[in-house]
Amino acid sequence: DALYGISKWGAGYFGLNKQGNVCVTPDPTKDHLQIDFAAVIEEIKQENIQFPVVVRFHDVLRNQVAQLNETFQKIIAEANYQGLYRGVYPVKVNQMREVVEEIVEAGAPYHYGLEAGSKAELLTVMAYNTTHDALTILNGYKDEEFMHLALLAQRLGRKVVIVIEKFSELHLIVKVAKEIGIDPIIGVRAKMSVKGRGKWEGSGGDRAKFGLTISEIINAARLLKSQDMGHCLQLLHFHIGSQLTDIRAVKEAINEGALIYAEMHHLGFPLQYVDIGGGLGIDYDGTKSTSDSSRNYTLDEYVADVVYGMQEVCDLEKVPHPTLVSESGRAITAHHSCVITEIVGEIRPDSAEVSVEAVSGEHILVTNMRELAQNMDTMENTQEIYNDASQYKEQASDAFKFRVVDIEELAKVETLYWQIMNRLRIRLQGAEFVPEELQTLDFDLSSQYLCNFSIFQSAADTWAIDQILPVIPLTRHLEKPTVNCSLVDITCDSDGKLDKFTVGREISNVIPMHALNREEDYYLGLFLTGAYQDVMGDMHNLFGRLNEVHIFSYDDDPDDFYIEEIVRGSSVENVLSIMQYNPSSMAKDVKRLIDKEVSAGNIKPREGVKLTDFYENCLSGYTYLKR
Ligand code: PLP
Repeated sequence: DALYGISKWGAGYFGLNKQGNVCVTPDPTKDHLQIDFAAVIEEIKQENIQFPVVVRFHDVLRNQVAQLNETFQKIIAEANYQGLYRGVYPVKVNQMREVVEEIVEAGAPYHYGLEAGSKAELLTVMAYNTTHDALTILNGYKDEEFMHLALLAQRLGRKVVIVIEKFSELHLIVKVAKEIGIDPIIGVRAKMSVKGRGKWEGSGGDRAKFGLTISEIINAARLLKSQDMGHCLQLLHFHIGSQLTDIRAVKEAINEGALIYAEMHHLGFPLQYVDIGGGLGIDYDGTKSTSDSSRNYTLDEYVADVVYGMQEVCDLEKVPHPTLVSESGRAITAHHSCVITEIVGEIRPDSAEVSVEAVSGEHILVTNMRELAQNMDTMENTQEIYNDASQYKEQASDAFKFRVVDIEELAKVETLYWQIMNRLRIRLQGAEFVPEELQTLDFDLSSQYLCNFSIFQSAADTWAIDQILPVIPLTRHLEKPTVNCSLVDITCDSDGKLDKFTVGREISNVIPMHALNREEDYYLGLFLTGAYQDVMGDMHNLFGRLNEVHIFSYDDDPDDFYIEEIVRGSSVENVLSIMQYNPSSMAKDVKRLIDKEVSAGNIKPREGVKLTDFYENCLSGYTYLKR
């Protein structure tokens, strides 16, 4: 556990059991209820579902919804805060229907609502946000049709708040509201001076893409008043960025937002809600620090800063405590899903060796390299050994291009070089001083484990913004891992790799894994993929969506679980159709080609039928490697 930091990023959901397998505890307050990943893998195999597979733990999702809402309720009660909490889940973080349905159901006792940021999302939340008294918050840029839809939702009994992101939207909402003849609930998003820290800090500050400046907010309020709609302005919104790593940014934002809210009251606009946006971070790398993939606070600390911070300003300014709204997405969904994939191969720089025995007339560079290998134990200066070996290797490579060294000699030089590097690595283990050039030796010599998945489909943020996602073997934790490796995916893209991991307390570019063996498949889990990763991936190389299994646990039987739903991933046909191909006409074309070969006597008729079926089966099959 300490090696992979599971208890740190696992948030109580993930751990190791006595058998040395990773297990999930869907409700951390009942830690005897554990599901073993080895059993999940077995069940997936029994169901004939091909890997890689997304596994969704619906109980984790429900637990996260309950935790967030109950923490707000607890701290509001402790602080004797006079407002309520009415959270919303921003569907963009994971729009999968099953996820949204589960969140709505789990959130119903807390009047937990939904947030939409586009027309398609609005159409979704109109149908799915069925909880009485729950808010529907509408962010993002809007056109007239959007306003009509929003007001339709209001007429259907939904509590819709239209958040104005840019000033001109105000004219649209006034126009549409007057046409229909109803009073909308309007919010304004403030452009904040405080900036979040981390990858999304651009969401705050003067250059923020969304929101109104202070002068625009005042003008907006006055414009609404002049239209007899001053009372419609009910919510102040701000969002200073996702994955806020430093609690100070949260405190500063609450303070700034609370002051704007209070001033609006003083100006005669008694807003009811303050919406603090998203930003509640996830400790992906388990360091509980301000690193971009972590956060230096707990959920309790975050909520306490929001509630007490708002209360303090409101009491000083003598204005009522507003109903607090938050739009946490990452914190609700990140833990509930993971990707299980198998390792399908190992790539090593020194994997192939040739015999390095001396032959008469061999090139001097081969002799030099062999002598270096023979004498290196008597040489004290490690740097010198490294320099000599590197120089011979480079010279041999140049000489090969000039046809002075032949291919067999080059192979000998290469074999000897990696043998020397391996011995140097062993020699430097535990050394106090390691010369700069030799510091990457561990990495240079490490294996690359080839994983049956696509980074671009399943872990987009690791590639796009260097996000760390925890990745660990799912079994064999009673054995010491002996292979340091980085991970590569099966796309034909050199960027398709994972080479940033938390190992112990360090961030490393290799991770210890177990040696592969023929008897047993080796499965990895890529964790915390439920927020953004699940829905932002693309089809690079035409690797499509993954097979999904949705797992529930039995309340009464701690050791048991069941796959409630299987959602088949994309078939090759599916992805080809998205790219405008016509798979059935492709199948016909290939059949025609096969028939032609049959007619010409190059393929036997029986084999022709089999080959046609084979092509068609591949078309309807999974896009990933078959084992
Ligand atoms: N609300 C708004 C307006 C956002 O832009 C975002 C994401 O950046 C969120 C909520 C969700 O943020 P998070 O996933 O950090 O909770």
